[in-house]
Amino acid sequence: MPAPVILFAAKSEKWAEYEPALRKALGKVGLDHAVLVTEAEPAEVDYIIYAPNSGLQDFSPFTRAKAVLSLWAGVEDIVGNETITMPLARMVDYGLTQGMLEFVTGHVLRYHLMMDDFIAGQDGLWRADLVPPLARDRKVTVLGLGVLGAASAQSLARIGFDVAGWSRSAKSLEGITCYHGEDGLLEALRHAEILVTLLPDTAATRGVINQTTLAALPKGAKIINPGRGSLIEDTALLAALDQGHIAAATLDVFTVEPLPSTHPYWAHPNVTVTPHIASATRAETASETIAENIRRGEAGLPFLHLVDRQAGY
Ligand code: NAP
Repeated sequence: MPAPVILFAAKSEKWAEYEPALRKALGKVGLDHAVLVTEAEPAEVDYIIYAPNSGLQDFSPFTRAKAVLSLWAGVEDIVGNETITMPLARMVDYGLTQGMLEFVTGHVLRYHLMMDDFIAGQDGLWRADLVPPLARDRKVTVLGLGVLGAASAQSLARIGFDVAGWSRSAKSLEGITCYHGEDGLLEALRHAEILVTLLPDTAATRGVINQTTLAALPKGAKIINPGRGSLIEDTALLAALDQGHIAAATLDVFTVEPLPSTHPYWAHPNVTVTPHIASATRAETASETIAENIRRGEAGLPFLHLVDRQAGY
């Protein structure tokens, strides 16, 4: 069988990190002979490893490509590309999942344990009445029960939090109260002393956190958004924060990134901005997902983690 030609179409500075990781992972699945390159005649390429910020937009010359394998979990920048007529897979790997559940668990614990009150309260006052409840008495809702949402919800449930989740289709996850569909959203929100948003950016999820849904949250709720900036209507959130209906928010993703330095989120006393670092794609673990999908392609097996273009994620 001829060696598959694999094009690495990501920013050039990523190559030094990815090349050894990809070669190692390809070797592990018996593909040491694969040709891994950063430039190739499009008609000779079998697989495209792709980062949407690489500049590659027109896939039509890649007439032989069996798949586009994205290095990113979110596919909103690719899913509408009509020149991608071959299967499109997104990134699902141990590193992204573990990174996200650590981020979510850590930031939920920050709010749950009222850490900010103690950090700001180093003033000689003995606030012995400020005792956090047990996790089982703290309600957390995770919007999105996909790979990252489910892992985060289950991590919180293992600690003991009273966890609910919301997805498009009905789900059954141990230890999680699962809601779905439009009717389920308000139920899920009513539950949320701490709300985590881990939905993809699609036509159906844009602006899901708006004036109406914010009003459905209990007074004093806190929000953690590592999903996508478009999920939240910023003006509605800022108003709810100023009114005190929402007590605090930790925002990792924004409609414009980097978040402009003049954006009101930076200056808001109850907002924590993190620079889209909730969970990064790491070369070592991502390469294993890529290599496994190429192995499957070569063996004539269906690809893993295919994007549903109709649904947009
Ligand atoms: P996923 O496995 O595709 O899961 C998406 C979840 O959202 C699923 O549970 C899905 O429901 C639900 N959903 C989609 N549309 C919905 C709708 N209209 N109503 C209700 N639920 C809906 O995605 P993932 O791997 O968990 O990743 C989630 C998102 O995290 C990504 O899309 C990306 O935007 C973001 N992300 C951020 C970072 C970061 O560093 N900040 C890193 C990686 C990913 P079903 O289960 O019914 O399909």
